[in-house]
Amino acid sequence: MINVKTPEQIKKMMVAGRITGEALALAGEMVRPGITTKQLDSKIRAHIEKCGARPSFLGYGGFPASACISVNNEVIHGIPSGKVLEEGDIVKIDVGAYKDGFHGDSANTFAVGRISPEAQALIDATRESFYKGIEAIGIENARLGDIGHAIEQYVADRGYSVVRKYVGHGVGHDLHEDPNVPNYGTPGRGVRLCRGMVIAIEPMVNAGGYEVIERPDKWTVVTKDSSLSAHYEHTVALTADGPLLLTKVD
Ligand code: MG
Ligand code: MG
Repeated sequence: MINVKTPEQIKKMMVAGRITGEALALAGEMVRPGITTKQLDSKIRAHIEKCGARPSFLGYGGFPASACISVNNEVIHGIPSGKVLEEGDIVKIDVGAYKDGFHGDSANTFAVGRISPEAQALIDATRESFYKGIEAIGIENARLGDIGHAIEQYVADRGYSVVRKYVGHGVGHDLHEDPNVPNYGTPGRGVRLCRGMVIAIEPMVNAGGYEVIERPDKWTVVTKDSSLSAHYEHTVALTADGPLLLTKVD
């Protein structure tokens, strides 16, 4: 069941979204060779708690940290650790904050020092594919398939693949609500979009094939062919004025 939000509820979600976006931006500014993923996680947790919020991911299904931090061929759900980031790595940071009954959810991919042009192109295409998905929301009588199709088309045109096993989702009182928001689809198919829906749109894009596997730690998802992967996510409210990116802070 899709929980459609009232304008008052979306106002509350703006607060959770802002805290989420700020925590992600602060961690992104800290990314450099020599820092550990655990240090990034600590900063995220400290900022969220300073704002009187709670890290959404901490304890979620037993997850042991406040953020998911995934490096290079790791796609999502990486566990922060003593792992030291090295020049040339790309690092995905995924953050959620819960405040006043609602969650925010946002992710981005950051360069560690100087990275290859290929890695930068993957990061750029992943971010751009998200905005292609946002543009699709403006289609008259748009459906979820329009969003997924726009994302996949943009990615495929550049020779990349979207991950199919993991998808975006509704966001609200729960971190993961209906509907599923795949990064692929058929135009004109799927759930019809309506005002008050709040969804996390989150393309996960692999430089190689779309297939992913889970590491034995039962969390970290990696590309099956060890290719690089990038991730970009915002929590998006569908309002009378169009899509509102609740987790975007600049
Ligand atoms: Mg996320
Ligand atoms: Mg999400």
